[in-house]
Amino acid sequence: MTAHAKVVIIGGGPAAYTAALYAARAGLEPVCFEGFNSGGQIARSGRLDNYPGLPGINGADLGSTIRDQATEYGATFEFSDVFEIELGSTPFRLTGMDGEHTADVVIVATGAASRKLGLPSEEALDGKGVAYCAICDGPVFAGKSVVVVGGGDAAVGEALALRHVVGKVTLVHRRTAFRAGAVLRAALAAATDIEVVTPAVVEDILGVEAGGVTGVRVRMVDDGTLRDLDAEGVFVAIGHEPASQLFQPWLKCDGSGFIITEPGTTATNVPGVFAAGDVADPRYRQAVTAAASGCQAAIDAERYLVGRDFLTAATDPSHPTI
Ligand SMILES: Cc1cc2nc3c(=O)[nH]c(=O)nc-3n(C[C@H](O)[C@H](O)[C@H](O)COP(=O)(O)OP(=O)(O)OC[C@H]3O[C@@H](n4cnc5c(N)ncnc54)[C@H](O)[C@@H]3O)c2cc1C
Repeated sequence: MTAHAKVVIIGGGPAAYTAALYAARAGLEPVCFEGFNSGGQIARSGRLDNYPGLPGINGADLGSTIRDQATEYGATFEFSDVFEIELGSTPFRLTGMDGEHTADVVIVATGAASRKLGLPSEEALDGKGVAYCAICDGPVFAGKSVVVVGGGDAAVGEALALRHVVGKVTLVHRRTAFRAGAVLRAALAAATDIEVVTPAVVEDILGVEAGGVTGVRVRMVDDGTLRDLDAEGVFVAIGHEPASQLFQPWLKCDGSGFIITEPGTTATNVPGVFAAGDVADPRYRQAVTAAASGCQAAIDAERYLVGRDFLTAATDPSHPTI
């Protein structure tokens, strides 16, 4: 039999768990498909130093605490990915490990993943000097040399921000021209304390698992020579992949796949479908902003349902009270 829920939340990170908490407290009895890799990106972080009120909290503990809070108020969790979804008509239909479900409202909170260079050394040294978020991990490298890799807004913005936090910043980009916007490019040109190495491709990240990163080997595109840059940290800032493929037949996304929401809300182009967290956020991508937009999505969902029920009653001639 197909199970029906007023609100289905898809995702297993701070956005989904917070949406579940707020929807549960609103009496909407949400069902959250938290995925096989539940916990979200923060589960990879041993320690968060910027989640307000919880200094130094372990990332996995933060996720499970919000999840427990939501469970206490009646949210239920399915340890399954959503494999298929149909958002073309209501009720919306989706398929998890245990079969088909329907929902009046869907909140998409499937997150994003940092793009990787694809080097074995990057994998081996992930979290041991290789990082993907300057706001999150910059202070770990206070006084040290770091290399930032990339040429877009994220890379140039991170390089500019990091120079106030770390000892030395080198920016490596495979092209001579940067894709970053004009303001960031101008700020970079004026930042004499950032060494720019272009056009150069990262060949290897140097270091040992026990001791961490010691440098970055780049190949200069112009003449093919190899150059080793000293660094104790590497910030890979070559973009993010939002987990939006499943929804793209219905939901408007930007050129990078981030779901587009109505400014100031979590509403997508499909009434009754809301998007929260990194999957709809090309700009901030923080645990606290993901959690905050999960809260917004649950409130938007509740208001949508109230409005829909009111309109249904208003247009139903058999309804006695309207
Ligand atoms: C190593 C690392 C360290 C970080 N450190 C910090 C930090 O110190 N401070 C900070 O504020 N932020 C930090 N961040 C960023 C922060 O983790 C993210 O901004 C935040 O987790 C985004 O939350 P989210 O809920 O939107 O998505 P995510 O955390 O990406 O969670 C999405 C979840 O949805 C699941 N999912 C995807 N598709 C499906 C599907 N079809 N069905 C069901 N489930 C699905 C995924 O498996 C995942 O569990 C860090 C990120 C990383 C990678």
